[in-house]
Amino acid sequence: MNFADRQTWENYDKDKQVTRRAEVIRGLIPSDTGNILDAGCGSGIVTHLLCQDFPVTAIDISETALEYLQCPHQVASVTSIPYPDASFDLVNSNEVLEHLSDDDLKTAIAEFKRCAKRYILISVPHQEQLQRLLVLCANCNTQQHPYGHLQSFTQQRMEQLLEPDFYLKRYLVFGRSQRDYNPLLLNFRQRFLGQWYTPDEDYRCISCGSAEFKTRQNPLTKAVNGINLLTMRQRPYWMFTLFVRKGSKT
Ligand SMILES: [Zn+2]
Repeated sequence: MNFADRQTWENYDKDKQVTRRAEVIRGLIPSDTGNILDAGCGSGIVTHLLCQDFPVTAIDISETALEYLQCPHQVASVTSIPYPDASFDLVNSNEVLEHLSDDDLKTAIAEFKRCAKRYILISVPHQEQLQRLLVLCANCNTQQHPYGHLQSFTQQRMEQLLEPDFYLKRYLVFGRSQRDYNPLLLNFRQRFLGQWYTPDEDYRCISCGSAEFKTRQNPLTKAVNGINLLTMRQRPYWMFTLFVRKGSKT
């Protein structure tokens, strides 16, 4: 995904899934919440829903995305939030943390804790199997995640990241079901049969810009996919967690 590209944001909610998630996020915000920081707001699909009921300030690293914002905003990274300690009653961050490196993830969480007076609300993909979505460029052979995801989260991992200052108050999984892939079968299908994930039509290789990816199907890949379909379970793709600062009045 190229966050500086207008096309990324024009197509961001094509299937209205982000709008559905925005409604879930709105439903998780405690009614006594004061002001909100939307950290990593993108083009503001969630922000605009929240600012109907709360004073919201938004930040994002993409100037292109911020052109869509209709509430106070500025260009800034979640790893260096330009506001004093405890400036916001609630820090909201959706679809951000899965894109960060290990170091940036720790820094961003520390920034959320520093800026949030009482609440931190985080939504990320739920136990994403990162390997399953890897695409392989047919031109330069670069492996890549088509949505730029670097992190996978469980409820437990999220709790560990937020403790000891914050405790988990609400946990919810939601959204379209995704099926895990048996790791051994997946490895076999990708490395030996040459079938990798099929990216969206407008996706281009991050390394060489090619639109060609190794996605070929044959009777053997179909058989492997069939075995997986019968043996692996499905679960909702998104995970929502609301954390509360210990000792704060809620
Ligand atoms: Zn390439």
